[in-house]
Amino acid sequence: MIVVMKPGATEKDIQHVVALVRDFGLKEHVIHGTDRTVIACIGDKRMVDKGAIENAPMVEKIVPILAPYKMASVEVKRTRTEVAIGPKKFPVGGKKIGVIAGPCAVEGRDQLLRVAEAVAAAGAIGLRGGAYKPRTSPYSFQGLGEEGLKLLEEARNATGLAIVTEATGLEQMDAVAEVADVVQIGARNMQHYPLLEAAGKCGKPVLLKRGPSAKIDEWLLACEYVINAGNHQVILCERGIRTFENYVRNTLALAVIPALRERTHLPVIIDPSHGTGHAHMVPSMCQAAVAAGADGLLIEVHHDPEHALSDGAQSLTPDVFAEMMKTLKRIANAVGREI
Ligand code: PEP
Ligand code: MN
Repeated sequence: MIVVMKPGATEKDIQHVVALVRDFGLKEHVIHGTDRTVIACIGDKRMVDKGAIENAPMVEKIVPILAPYKMASVEVKRTRTEVAIGPKKFPVGGKKIGVIAGPCAVEGRDQLLRVAEAVAAAGAIGLRGGAYKPRTSPYSFQGLGEEGLKLLEEARNATGLAIVTEATGLEQMDAVAEVADVVQIGARNMQHYPLLEAAGKCGKPVLLKRGPSAKIDEWLLACEYVINAGNHQVILCERGIRTFENYVRNTLALAVIPALRERTHLPVIIDPSHGTGHAHMVPSMCQAAVAAGADGLLIEVHHDPEHALSDGAQSLTPDVFAEMMKTLKRIANAVGREI
């Protein structure tokens, strides 16, 4: 962090800032330029109340040097994190691109097992499906709850797929973490800090979706809550953000892939189902995500989208999914990855 003083700052102003910097446990290095003075601060600046220094007399601005997040940052860990998921310990974040697919919501035994078997046969490593659903309307299907969790367990036993399912509240965390191989924290809950801390203590890898209006720094700071609570197994998932556009449900921000790679060692996966809202757009966005360096995909698949209890419009049929996987394998190979 560098404190830039205004032109004309007196020695008294400078010493006042130096004293504040020392109060925060940092060391100062004062550099006198021809028309202004800057103070470089050395030490861990994350605990510093920057406002206190910014408000001091004759301070022009503060320029941060390090990212505000710590454990998620490449400044702290340069090697990329691989998260092993499910009974077969599929790695996410290495050379292999992990595809996680399944219905938006667990609706019943027949539906879940049918879709699970189809996506496993096409090369998915994980089965997604909400037992607890965060729905915009309280009158929409809210999920099967505990019964849904039991069905997910059965589907894992039948297919060997890693189960990815959401905890929408603190009260479900234990039950969800017991069954899930990856606990999903949904977009709406990205800034539910007590839930993030609970995910940090749940003992399972966590898939953290980006909030619909969250900036990258806020998202990475949300990760920091999970890691800081003791869980380093975090996968980031872009699922589209809210913009003025209405030809899509959300605007899928694929540029987060290179942006996150620069900032964090954590794996990044893309959810083009919520990121577009339209099934016909999903295959091309999956292709783009793989080409751009995504570590995985989260895709909604339903055997009968027209009668799905949630998100049918964005769900692929198993046939379309299987066809798409063939193309994705070729694209992955072209960019030095594997599916
Ligand atoms: C989901 O994955 O079904 C879901 C509810 O996603 P999001 O939190 O991204 O809206
Ligand atoms: Mn959904």
